[in-house]
Amino acid sequence: MLKGEKTRSQLALVKVFAIVPLLALVAAVPVAWGWGLGWVDVGIALFFYTLTCLGVTVGFHRYFTHGAFKARRGLRITLAAVGSMAMQGPVIGWVADHRRHHAYADKEGDPHSPWLFGTSAAALAKGFWHAHMGWLFDRAQTNARRFAPDLLADKDIQRVNRLFPVLTVITLVAPAVLGGLITLSWWGALTAFFWASLVRVALLHHVTWSVNSICHMIGDRPFEARDKSANFWPLAIASMGESWHNSHHADPTCARHGVRRGQIDISARIIWVFEKLGWVHNVRWPKQERLASKLKRPVPSATS
Ligand SMILES: [Zn+2]
Ligand SMILES: [Zn+2]
Repeated sequence: MLKGEKTRSQLALVKVFAIVPLLALVAAVPVAWGWGLGWVDVGIALFFYTLTCLGVTVGFHRYFTHGAFKARRGLRITLAAVGSMAMQGPVIGWVADHRRHHAYADKEGDPHSPWLFGTSAAALAKGFWHAHMGWLFDRAQTNARRFAPDLLADKDIQRVNRLFPVLTVITLVAPAVLGGLITLSWWGALTAFFWASLVRVALLHHVTWSVNSICHMIGDRPFEARDKSANFWPLAIASMGESWHNSHHADPTCARHGVRRGQIDISARIIWVFEKLGWVHNVRWPKQERLASKLKRPVPSATS
């Protein structure tokens, strides 16, 4: 069903889609620097980017979706709230979608596979768009009763889920308030709102969506997986370890995605810190034998 390699033109197309808007943003930075952007904006943006990204990677993804560790009640609720502040939808729907993604990865039923339309250049461009953000406009909704009954049964999580609109307001307003207070100016509030609220949310959206699109198209596939998931190193830092996506699909409940030497995984490091602090337990760290068994073996030649 998923045969065939991408051509050079297909790869180029994906890269253009992924990189050009980002370059436009980078080009805007020197233009705005000094009057519409300063270190205060950068600091606040980095703080909220890191916080909400970890809310999604450590909280929504590794903890709520895959149960890679057990967390104390307070941390459980905090992770649900902080992940919601990434504005990627309420926690229960997010988890249901992502569990469906793993259940049907790159096959019919996967909410965001880039491979649903074929492998021609046009089909792949359509697939990239669909996997990146087009799927968000689908009317079909994942059945949470089927895919996230554990979260539906948790009253506290239900409450956080309902508070999503409030958390959205907080994530947009808090950076502006901080910027205003630090610079003691309305202008400071406005620039912080632009960079640390709007740009920060958009940037994290694209990084998360890139795991769904790019990391199912381009990269290394050292592990056996039933899908097209790939490890894409350029996004390792920005995605806080989530772009080691082939490793993740090979062993979804593992708390560390960057399992090989030199593969930086900030989310795994944070889980490690939580474990040392005694906030989480039963962490599923990678096991050597398990990893070795999932590594692709060289295909034996016909004569041997
Ligand atoms: Zn995936
Ligand atoms: Zn996953």
